[in-house]
Amino acid sequence: MYFRTSARTLFSRIISLLIFSGIVGYFFGQTLLFISVVSLCLLAWHYSHLYKLIKWLWQGKSISPPQASGIWGRIYDGLYRRIRKQRLKQKQLNERIRKFRDGAEALPDAAIVLSTELSILWGNKKASQLLGVQWPNDVGQRIDNLIRYPEFAQYLDGGNYDIPCLIISPINHDLQLELRMMAYGSDQILLLARDVSKIQRLDQMRRDFVANVSHELKTPLTVVRGYVEMVQMSESALAPQWQKAFTTIETQVSRMDRLVDQLLILSKAENNVGAENHQQVNLSDLLQTIVEDTQWLNQDKHHSISHDIAPNIVIKGNEHELKSALLNIISNAIAYTPSGGIIKIVLEYRDDKIRFSVKDNGPGIKSEYINRLTERFFRIDKSRSRDTGGSGLGLAIVKHVLNHHQGELEIVSEWQKGSEFIIYFSAQADK
Ligand code: ADP
Repeated sequence: MYFRTSARTLFSRIISLLIFSGIVGYFFGQTLLFISVVSLCLLAWHYSHLYKLIKWLWQGKSISPPQASGIWGRIYDGLYRRIRKQRLKQKQLNERIRKFRDGAEALPDAAIVLSTELSILWGNKKASQLLGVQWPNDVGQRIDNLIRYPEFAQYLDGGNYDIPCLIISPINHDLQLELRMMAYGSDQILLLARDVSKIQRLDQMRRDFVANVSHELKTPLTVVRGYVEMVQMSESALAPQWQKAFTTIETQVSRMDRLVDQLLILSKAENNVGAENHQQVNLSDLLQTIVEDTQWLNQDKHHSISHDIAPNIVIKGNEHELKSALLNIISNAIAYTPSGGIIKIVLEYRDDKIRFSVKDNGPGIKSEYINRLTERFFRIDKSRSRDTGGSGLGLAIVKHVLNHHQGELEIVSEWQKGSEFIIYFSAQADK
């Protein structure tokens, strides 16, 4: 029921009442007295309802307001309608919250809602099983007080939540967890933790398998290669059909040998994730040696190779791995650029970073392939790559080496014009 009123109606009502009491008073010869008594009664009536309203608002237990007729009846009805509307909204909101919680409880992952100051607002049951965060007991605690790992602290400080953070569960050390944080609502953060122990174990098994197989293949390959070379060098000349067969065997064994070597480097780079064996490496000297060593690769190609190496650029890292990464990029430029090409190698400081680049005027790479180049065994033109002795592992090695040297690889290439492979390392503070 709607009640419409206006100030004019209310005003005309009160004036009519006062005129009426004045007329009645006039008949009794007491106009003013009648008007005053009626005004006082009106005031008393309003005050008594004000009193009832205040009492109901502050002390009342029932949601229904006091009963009254006239204007106060309208006021109480209006208030009652508002309260009922509010209650309905509250009920709907509670229902939504309950549904959200049921949904979050059904998640296979731990979910924690944090404030922007990283204090805990809510967590599901899985959060208590995986991270030991108990809701509602831990509400208001900062998440980094409960998950006390340096890698998690670094992750929070870094503020880059696009990549996940791997930690061991604080309450079950057999579990490996992948944490992801994302902005949620206008001023909240959602933290999701997933048990990735199985995936990590399988990944480790795969890495161990590749490392073991490559290691086991190395010895028989060396023996076969040794015998093939021995036969080829023997005094008693081989019949021409056998010469051809032995040359093919030698080429294929060498290819396999290179592949096994690269697999070993890759699995070492994958397993060597820590910075324990990192030392100061003089990148300028290392690159100078690599450039000299790669001269023999250029013997048949006759490229014009120039280099501009800034002296004494030092970074903290694993020399062996860094050498593989730089060598792979330079040897690719030599191998994939047609004979007589121009290759430029530069090592310099640029914009507070160390920048290593190899630019060639070779065939270039179509843009759709660029993102896939660092995948294992990815080769654009398999037959050509096979001719160059390529296995498709070179840039995968580069990617892994850069991962644990905080390096970045950028590939700029234009089809049929040439390519530039650029590596950025962060410069040491004491350069
Ligand atoms: P591979 O051992 O086959 O050289 P890489 O991982 O080093 O493997 O390289 C992957 C692919 O990227 C190569 O097969 C080749 O097609 C392409 N590639 C790499 N470097 C160059 C380059 N400088 N110019 C053109 N293509 C290149």
